[in-house]
Amino acid sequence: MIKKLCLSILLASNAAFAAETIVINANVITIDPSHPSAQAFAYENGRFLAVGSDAEILKLKTPGATVIDMHGATVVPGFNDAHVHPQQIYDEGSPYYRVWLGADRAKTMDQLIAELKKKAAITPPGKMINGYGYDDVLLGRHPNRYDLDKVSTTQPIIITHGSGHISVVNSYVLNAAGITKDTPNPPGGALDRDADGTPNGVIRESARGLLQKGLHGTEVEIPHDQEIQGYINCFRQYSAKGITSVGVAGGTPSSFQMMQEVRDAGNPVRVGFMFYEKWFPQLQAAGIQRGFGDDLLRVTAIKNFQGNSLSGRTAWLSEAYSDHPGYFGIPPARSQEQLDKDFQEMWDAGWQVATHSNGDREIDMVLTAIEHAEAKNPRPDMRWRIEHASIMNQSLLDRAKKDGVILVFHSYFTEYGDILASYGPQRLAMMHAYRTAIDMGIPVAGHSDSPVSAADPLLRIQNMVTRQGKDGTVYGSNQKISVDEAIKAWTLDGAYATFEEKIKGSVTPGKLADFVVLEKDPNKVAPADIKDIKVEATYMSGNKVYTTPEKTVALVPLPPVDYGDGDEEANESQYNH
Ligand SMILES: [Zn+2]
Repeated sequence: MIKKLCLSILLASNAAFAAETIVINANVITIDPSHPSAQAFAYENGRFLAVGSDAEILKLKTPGATVIDMHGATVVPGFNDAHVHPQQIYDEGSPYYRVWLGADRAKTMDQLIAELKKKAAITPPGKMINGYGYDDVLLGRHPNRYDLDKVSTTQPIIITHGSGHISVVNSYVLNAAGITKDTPNPPGGALDRDADGTPNGVIRESARGLLQKGLHGTEVEIPHDQEIQGYINCFRQYSAKGITSVGVAGGTPSSFQMMQEVRDAGNPVRVGFMFYEKWFPQLQAAGIQRGFGDDLLRVTAIKNFQGNSLSGRTAWLSEAYSDHPGYFGIPPARSQEQLDKDFQEMWDAGWQVATHSNGDREIDMVLTAIEHAEAKNPRPDMRWRIEHASIMNQSLLDRAKKDGVILVFHSYFTEYGDILASYGPQRLAMMHAYRTAIDMGIPVAGHSDSPVSAADPLLRIQNMVTRQGKDGTVYGSNQKISVDEAIKAWTLDGAYATFEEKIKGSVTPGKLADFVVLEKDPNKVAPADIKDIKVEATYMSGNKVYTTPEKTVALVPLPPVDYGDGDEEANESQYNH
């Protein structure tokens, strides 16, 4: 789609300035409805100053200004991944490496065992081997204790499903945790069992709490500086995909402290931080309110759980799973009465409440609690969030609209299409209901839930546009949205979800100069090729925080770039070409 070029230049309010940097000859998708496209913009002190045509913006050029010629490359606002779980990332040889078992590594049970064996060989006896991201559909079933016992019986092993909601442990862990066939399923969780009732090592949802005793003290200790580096490695990966903001969907005081250290160590990504509900009383006692922090790290919400997993097929449904008669998922542990009470307290204290909920029956409970709180204490613009909100129906959407709820939907058909197919066509037509929600005027925000699906906005946007799985199957084609709508969900709407739409999310004078340079315009490639568009550079506050090693964009003259530690090579190649 060719956008109408903005003719009148837009300036930040006090227009007397010397432009620090001028970007020209770009195809700017601004996501600002007052000027949807532009050729050029200027920024200074980390904020956009002006947006317009090349001629208009070049008029602002002062002798000291840097001019960047984009040679026609596409620029979009920095992507905002509204809900992630950053994981420390280490090289495979590192003693701190957690074994990645995703589709590219563990297609078969033998491959999964082999990956874990490599780690076992460099892990001391009694120390934990930790793997994550396995795909039960690809493997044909969930791994179990007997598979993991082939890796080791002298080291505790725990691996986690791609959804993060199901774990598998070996016999060592079950024994150390004292889990036997007499151990009952806890509320909100389940142990899979052999025919005689012996737990087979597959641990669902809240049942993971039973493992604590078996795993306590077995983790390989990571030195503090390496912990920080592990997170920086993760955020660099996000940045390389064009992400400039994320929402950390649940954390503790110690993980918040870690995020402060990561920020101070040069995190190239802004973090909105949601505290787990458990810490609400402490936040209240400390006098901390939503919005506390700065543009790099801000406390945004309280994260709750009321429901289970979509891709783990534990979400609680009003109609049985299509391929599993009589199975409705696992009901949430918390009663409606308790949920009402909990929401009321957080709402009355002024917090934004972000609740993980997937099944229609869970979402119904969440909306009921929201309505309960709003009726008792009406207040404007509280922007409740439902995280994932996967299985919707029209009446739930009507209520979400009325209750002022932001829906933070998935778009991960590439990774999970084959699993989601089991929800059946009727539910797929209302799963991650972007089209219906946008048409109704319900705010939506894109997210990856990384590492549940890849923190790769262009892949996620492609999924929103095509609704296609890996093999081309389309899931719920009625919920397709346009490229521009998808980009908006990944930028401005993500900012809206944290009350930050006035400071970021579009190329607008006065906003933070966070932007991404794309090799191609996502509107001008085949929808199935959006994921292949290269991110050429990522800028946060006008500083280039990521660039491809190859020189693909000419920068004249080159501004000083601070890459922090570790990326000097990329920096060098950019300069030397
Ligand atoms: Zn999550």
